[in-house]
Amino acid sequence: MEEKKYYCYICDNELIKDNKSDEHIILNAIGGHLHSYTIMCKDCNSRLGETADAKLAEDLSFYTDILRVKKNRQNLHRQIMTDEYGHDIIVGDAGKILKLRHPYVKKEQDGEKMHLQITARNTEELRGLLKGMVKDKTLTQEDADKIMEKATITEYRPRLEKNSTISEAAFPSIVKSAINYYVDIFHDIPTIKHLIPYIKGEKDTKEVLYLHHFKELPYEVDKRQVTHMIHLEGNRDTGLLYAMMEYYGIFIYIAVLGLDYQGNPVNKTYTYDTVSATEIDRSFSLPLTLGDLEKFRCQPHEEYLTYLPYVQQRVDGVMNVWQGRQVEEELQQVIIDEFGKYPEGCILTKEIIEDIENDIMKYFERKINESF
Ligand SMILES: [Zn+2]
Repeated sequence: MEEKKYYCYICDNELIKDNKSDEHIILNAIGGHLHSYTIMCKDCNSRLGETADAKLAEDLSFYTDILRVKKNRQNLHRQIMTDEYGHDIIVGDAGKILKLRHPYVKKEQDGEKMHLQITARNTEELRGLLKGMVKDKTLTQEDADKIMEKATITEYRPRLEKNSTISEAAFPSIVKSAINYYVDIFHDIPTIKHLIPYIKGEKDTKEVLYLHHFKELPYEVDKRQVTHMIHLEGNRDTGLLYAMMEYYGIFIYIAVLGLDYQGNPVNKTYTYDTVSATEIDRSFSLPLTLGDLEKFRCQPHEEYLTYLPYVQQRVDGVMNVWQGRQVEEELQQVIIDEFGKYPEGCILTKEIIEDIENDIMKYFERKINESF
């Protein structure tokens, strides 16, 4: 039996042992596991879209980091985010480190009175700030002493808010993923050939890539999962062949692969759960026309805003997965610490077990109180 021949969809060279390359269908830097040896040659793979790929990885790095998504290279990013008061927070080490970026002083004049709210990172910093205010006569020494006396130290547990978008510089990478998946399944290069200039950055990707939001997603979402997805759909009646691209269950784009599709009906979905690092089953149908996409793109701003709460809901879902995991890890540490209190080989008496249970309960009580 003759072996099937494959060709690079960029340069059309036949893929043989020497020039075939391992192309990730979804970017490895965001945890994509699906890959193929039958779509692109080594040269094209190394030349194509590195900037766009890097940009997409960077724009999604916050989620990649906090979810600790497995990828080949581990480089955690330092992020600046804001808390509920609008204070800048430095987020490091996959969300384990949360630090106020700098101190904040809020002054409000209320007639004769002045309300002063100071958020400092430690006692020394507060002392320094007050000293400065005495010096520039904002405060008297007496007031400064009073403030110092009344100051409270609290553990800083901000509620993070993240509203990021994917930048246009990353769009070619999204379109490339869609093509990768289509070619890997169908090895039908002529249908997507017109898209090569877009992924090479020679044409404006916005012509073929549409940001899309849903008030209700066309599939069930399991709250414990955070998914990357590529869903292909093609229909002879509308002529539309497109890929719905989902990143971290939040960002959704539609890449239009063809406007005059005359082949067999297409409905294929690849869904990858970044939390469990496994492929999951998802199948659905989403009949769209180019008119729908254009209408969504050109809607009035007020209309567009009505979709944002639904996007926020999905962001919150990801944050919940992250926070749940933080608690799990903390609890694990509590248990390890508890057992560590007793010498190795020590027989666990009823009293010891009760003591351990007590401490773990205390931990939970503390957690519950914190969440109010
Ligand atoms: Zn090639």
